[in-house]
Amino acid sequence: MKKLFGVMGDPIAHSMSPAMHNDLFSLYDIDAVYLPFHVMQGDLETAVKGLKAIGASGFNVTIPHKTEIMSFLDKIDPLAEAIGAVNTVKNENGHLIGYNTDGPGFVKGLESVIADLESRSALIIGAGGAARAIYFSLAQAGIHSIDLYNRTQLKAEELISSCPYKVQSKLLDRETAERDLAAYQLIIQTTSIGMFPDIDSTPLSMANINCDALVSDIIYNPSQTKLLKEASGKGAMIQNGIEMFVFQGALAFEKWTGIFPDTNRMRANVLRHLGG
Ligand code: NAP
Repeated sequence: MKKLFGVMGDPIAHSMSPAMHNDLFSLYDIDAVYLPFHVMQGDLETAVKGLKAIGASGFNVTIPHKTEIMSFLDKIDPLAEAIGAVNTVKNENGHLIGYNTDGPGFVKGLESVIADLESRSALIIGAGGAARAIYFSLAQAGIHSIDLYNRTQLKAEELISSCPYKVQSKLLDRETAERDLAAYQLIIQTTSIGMFPDIDSTPLSMANINCDALVSDIIYNPSQTKLLKEASGKGAMIQNGIEMFVFQGALAFEKWTGIFPDTNRMRANVLRHLGG
């Protein structure tokens, strides 16, 4: 029988996940379909019960449901539990198991460009859901240190203090982060600043960046945010949010099928969707 997968969110019409996963099902000759489900706040429990009742094999969960979904699952992976968000659900013999592949996907996307994570000092800009997933996953992966700058300091403090994985960390104000930027070999921009249509803003100046640093901005529309352009202009290596998106999808696909898919093909698919 054809297997059913999907993604629930609001909005969902522009999700690139159906095209990416359906292409992989045909590549690996798997009899399955992946559909977008428009699920509004308040309808999540009904939607999850419905998918479980009809025997869906797995699904992704996106904005605004990544935290609320946790109440409707049978089991949650410890990393997802710590992060407080689930983006991937697998149906194992009628039991729904929740995972977070956003943070591990980000880390996997770094692996092709960084070999020595354990000696790297990172700065994360932002303290929202994506920052939390990335911070916890980098800490779990054994990075040397992660400092944090966020507009709302209290949220950054809460993020640092709630991480269950041991890592050196300090909270920075904007002035200190901009002044000491050269100390970081990895800078990760996780706020929504710079995203279309707000493309002329940056959350932090890149003026003092070290030209050996890697700057990763998890935004993928536009493909180069103003912050990435500034960093690239200073000679730094840059990466946009397509890597995190592709690798979170690859890790979800692996959970569902046991196959770690061809990420070059997935990236090409996403780039086609974004118009090159
Ligand atoms: P979130 O939980 O709402 O967090 C938003 C973050 O942006 C917070 O740190 C917030 O700071 C900061 N921010 C928002 N407006 C700001 C402003 N005007 N000035 C300064 N800081 C501001 O959102 P999220 O889920 O973490 O997502 C953040 C971004 O990551 C979005 O652009 C999303 O599309 C992207 N993302 C990409 C991927 C991927 O696969 N590439 C995956 C997930 C998310 P405060 O705490 O001060 O409000």
